[in-house]
Amino acid sequence: MLVRFWGVRGSIGTAITHNEVQAKIRQILQLASPADILSRETVDNFISNLPFSLRGTYGGNTTCIEVNTGPDDKDILIIDAGTGLRGLGNSLFSRDRMKGKDLLTFLMTHTHWDHIQGLPFFGPIYVPGNTVNFISSFDDIEERLRYQQVRTHFPVGFDEMGATKSFAHFPEGSEYEVYDLKITSKSVRHPGGCYSYRLQQGDKSFIFCSDAEFNLETMEDIGPYIEYFTGADVLVFDTQYTFEESLQKIDWGHSSAAIATDIAIKSNVKKLILYHHDPTYDDNKMDAVTLQAMKYKDMMAPSLDLDIQTAYEGLEIRI
Ligand SMILES: [Zn+2]
Ligand SMILES: [Zn+2]
Repeated sequence: MLVRFWGVRGSIGTAITHNEVQAKIRQILQLASPADILSRETVDNFISNLPFSLRGTYGGNTTCIEVNTGPDDKDILIIDAGTGLRGLGNSLFSRDRMKGKDLLTFLMTHTHWDHIQGLPFFGPIYVPGNTVNFISSFDDIEERLRYQQVRTHFPVGFDEMGATKSFAHFPEGSEYEVYDLKITSKSVRHPGGCYSYRLQQGDKSFIFCSDAEFNLETMEDIGPYIEYFTGADVLVFDTQYTFEESLQKIDWGHSSAAIATDIAIKSNVKKLILYHHDPTYDDNKMDAVTLQAMKYKDMMAPSLDLDIQTAYEGLEIRI
């Protein structure tokens, strides 16, 4: 399967600011030497060697992940409908998909705003002839999505979006099969509830676990979760806070990079993706968080082959 990240921010869409852009330009110019700007080639080389926070941005759109699976990656499953979904819709059209006779599937973790606000801006759901399936371990997803588009909240009603919409519920403990994926779920601690999902394709596994609070207290009784995470090829995990912040923000429903790393080590996960970035974190801070998590992993499990990466908009992972 091919996983693409369209939204990585937590809580609210967060545009990069004027001052942040200027600060990047200033730092880049200070780093450049005359030899770096001799030609297009030297410039490109210079840019590619800059830290990620200077040569790009982690992105400000909220949760939306595209999973392509099946023959030629043709089957599309979308995890959550945050603001990143708008760009995904445009991308599908430019790939000549969902123009009136295609089908895709949404897998919904929960319905906090940052996970549903992109849906009314998702072009393919307006095209008659398309079929959009919503699956979730919550049994009232249809009602929740309709509520987002009542007249007082949005000018276009849910039924005015022309695609055929269907809904399926699979409770925790059951397995749902779609395309060539077998999906299971696990409830996680989060205000209002939330589900993590494990996608299994043959011997490959991808786990999405955002909006999930694991803290020192829950770590004492983490056995069933470790079993669920065990051996995942890729684990996307809620790391909204630094460890210090997470001690202040008990019951806010999110975890830290240190806790995520501990869990990934215990579960023998191959690749950990830090996710659901706090809206107050700029790109410099995200670089620092990534580095801190890598150092922590090296300290706790120096010989373990665990890759740690921070999610950014545009990141693609082949599993
Ligand atoms: Zn969220
Ligand atoms: Zn949430």
